[in-house]
Amino acid sequence: MGPTSANTVQSAQPEPDIVVVGGGPAGSTAAAFLAAKGRRVVLVEKEAHPRFHIGESLLPRNLDIFERLGVLEEVRAIGVHKPGAEFASDRTGRTCPFPFAAALDRDRTYSWQVRRSELDELLFKNAIRKGATAFQETRVTDIQLGKKGERSRVTAKGKDGEVMEWHPRYVLDASGRDTFLASRMDVKVSNKYNNTAAIYGHFEGVLRREGELEGYIGIHLAEDGWFWLIPLRDGLMSIGFVGNQSAWKNRTGTPTELFMSRIASSLTVSERTQNAKLVSEVFSTANYSYRARQGNGEGFLMIGDAYGFVDPMFSTGVLMAMTAGELGAEAAHTWLDNPAKGQRLADRTNRELGLAMDRIGWLIYRINDPVMRTMFMSPTNKFWMRDGIVNLLAGNLRGSLRATLPILCFKTAYYLMIALRKRGMGRNLPEETPEASPLRS
Ligand SMILES: Cc1cc2nc3c(=O)[nH]c(=O)nc-3n(C[C@H](O)[C@H](O)[C@H](O)COP(=O)(O)OP(=O)(O)OC[C@H]3O[C@@H](n4cnc5c(N)ncnc54)[C@H](O)[C@@H]3O)c2cc1C
Repeated sequence: MGPTSANTVQSAQPEPDIVVVGGGPAGSTAAAFLAAKGRRVVLVEKEAHPRFHIGESLLPRNLDIFERLGVLEEVRAIGVHKPGAEFASDRTGRTCPFPFAAALDRDRTYSWQVRRSELDELLFKNAIRKGATAFQETRVTDIQLGKKGERSRVTAKGKDGEVMEWHPRYVLDASGRDTFLASRMDVKVSNKYNNTAAIYGHFEGVLRREGELEGYIGIHLAEDGWFWLIPLRDGLMSIGFVGNQSAWKNRTGTPTELFMSRIASSLTVSERTQNAKLVSEVFSTANYSYRARQGNGEGFLMIGDAYGFVDPMFSTGVLMAMTAGELGAEAAHTWLDNPAKGQRLADRTNRELGLAMDRIGWLIYRINDPVMRTMFMSPTNKFWMRDGIVNLLAGNLRGSLRATLPILCFKTAYYLMIALRKRGMGRNLPEETPEASPLRS
């Protein structure tokens, strides 16, 4: 797909109101909403769509944003129906399905799993359709943020080395894990509880789950990390392993050998990959979760992974990126007319995303704890705790009172069990022995 504009300096064009750096889900969402409001938007992407990207499993709440963007049916056409998530434990061999239909909010009971090359191209094209001027194979190389009342200067380089420059009033940084502004401003803080790395690729011939479970994402909890198994169209399965530091110690061999040996060492994953064939390159991502200490300021806002990233166990990345894209568009649009009000909305955008990351991070960073694993793999619905967890898994991350109470009960039960065990009063847990969960109703 070619960009709408030739890769030449837009000197004849009026200066844009907003430059969006990065044409992934966050950037394309923000550009589409801003262009639809009549703002002059330039969207700059360093690669050419369609391009490979990881992050293929979406959540039910994503559908709301697809609908508001007007692309719901287009996404449906490229997706594999995903009605829930199934967790499997290597320690016990047990599996536990979490159907989205059991969430507290039942208006969206499914989502899709997609090739990101297709989703991201579709969202990028939609931003163009809505009126954004888009450039591909054009890398932003410098941003000089303007002082109060001044325009910023954004410089970029096209694929033939041509230099482009824009002077927008507002900059949205949606550069993903490149964290363009956060890195240059030196405000990126890594999460010491999630110092992990991921290795992943696409396979054919992986045993699919049957019936209702066929479209579920599989999350397989191993000893020193976890796997995802994401069913894609055309018989493909995306498999990835996210490992703690200990998982990578003494590693030898090529990335492919390392990946295959990790798969072989998992009881529950290797059961499904007996006849599987790797059909893609093997990719890896290191230095995992982080957040920017400062996510916005005079005339700029970081959205999506450019602001923060949390371990993808619950498939929250695209939803959070698109939510930030939508909220960020509102903040930028407002800022252009009323900077003080726009600033408050920019703060809210970062705050909401930070809180959502904290909510799911609390669960993810405890997942290797036997108490947490037991509660997770044998969930009780006392005080709607299971439905509350499913609610989170469905992407209801914004913390209404109704959604928060069951999670508070879950946390209380967790801390209670931890305290009892410290005093030697807890029973053995299923994640240590095959007994039933003390929390099972
Ligand atoms: C191992 C792993 C597994 C994951 N699994 C899932 C999952 O199953 N489900 C899920 O929802 N999320 C998942 N995620 C998270 C998900 O990939 C991201 O959260 C999501 O892609 C963020 O979208 P974004 O638009 O913020 O960034 P990106 O999608 O990374 O887009 C940023 C874009 O900016 C461009 N760019 C960067 N720098 C520049 C520059 N200087 N100039 C111009 N363009 C630039 C990049 O080329 C890119 O296209 C996973 C992440 C990882 C690492």
